[in-house]
Amino acid sequence: MLGFAHYEKDMRNDPDGIFFLPLQGRKTASFHYPGGGATYKGEAVQRSLVESYTHPNSNETEWRENIDIVMNWFTKEDFDFVTLYYGEPDSVGHRYGPETENRRVMIQQIDRTIGYLVEAIERYGLTEHLNVIITSDHGMTTVKKKPNVTEILLTDYISFQDLVKFDIVDYGGFGMLLPKPGQEEVMYQALKNAHPHLNVYKKEEFPEHFHFAKHERVLPIVMYGDSGYSISGQLILYFNKGDHGFDNVYMDMKTIFRAFGPDFKKNHLAEPFDSIHIYPLMCKLLGITPEPHNGSLAVTQEMLVDTYNQQSGEIQKQPPEDWQCGLFCPEIEKIQKGVS
Ligand SMILES: [Zn+2]
Repeated sequence: MLGFAHYEKDMRNDPDGIFFLPLQGRKTASFHYPGGGATYKGEAVQRSLVESYTHPNSNETEWRENIDIVMNWFTKEDFDFVTLYYGEPDSVGHRYGPETENRRVMIQQIDRTIGYLVEAIERYGLTEHLNVIITSDHGMTTVKKKPNVTEILLTDYISFQDLVKFDIVDYGGFGMLLPKPGQEEVMYQALKNAHPHLNVYKKEEFPEHFHFAKHERVLPIVMYGDSGYSISGQLILYFNKGDHGFDNVYMDMKTIFRAFGPDFKKNHLAEPFDSIHIYPLMCKLLGITPEPHNGSLAVTQEMLVDTYNQQSGEIQKQPPEDWQCGLFCPEIEKIQKGVS
């Protein structure tokens, strides 16, 4: 099985990523996959090539060489599962924006590379043996800038010197503030209706569908911008022309999922699903027991050929309660219909 994916580089040291698979005797490898060098419960993948931060993302010749290396791992060394990562079209999307010629050229390169992968699978005699999942962890939208819009600059509405003890802003469409003692209400009132495209919450009131604000590291004031609106603090330093990290109800934030191989149905069009449901699907294909997670195999197993589906007696029929707010949760429907 080959997981062929884009995943943010910043996640590489986070062993809690949804793609961390319990090994259970399987021979596994990570090729430039963020987080691939991490250990989990004392276990690590047998082989991990960790990409440096400065590694060039877009060398097409290297992309092809990497596919051949991975094919050899499967055929000559009997690996069961390999993750192969490419940092495009993320980089070019940030740098130039998603709706640009540069990005289109990169998409064509990716398309050729997938063609090369399909051809390589055949060449190595793996067509009947290898399941492939191609996916990513986010979409991309154009960052809105002046003079087209009024950008969100928090210092226009609050005094950092008087109110803010610590901030995490200037990283795109999301931000958190730690008020100085006794200043939370003042800060909240000053910000909540400050900008028509800025959404500001007290931590305990942050919308549930983000599954975010309960964590102890989340600061008391949490905010996000509408699609394309970055949140800046005291200066506008942010230079990305494309970005992700906005509310995942927006189509621009959605990602791709393609899968093929002997255990997948052919020409099957799945309903949209949240990426958390890929993990139990991978575990099913590898015949391993998943670690505790919030996904459900019930959502993704319909992609598998029927004989595969009849085998299991332990498939969850209903998604776990935790999962309720997926693509079809009432809260999100309200947002989509513009009801507040
Ligand atoms: Zn990115």
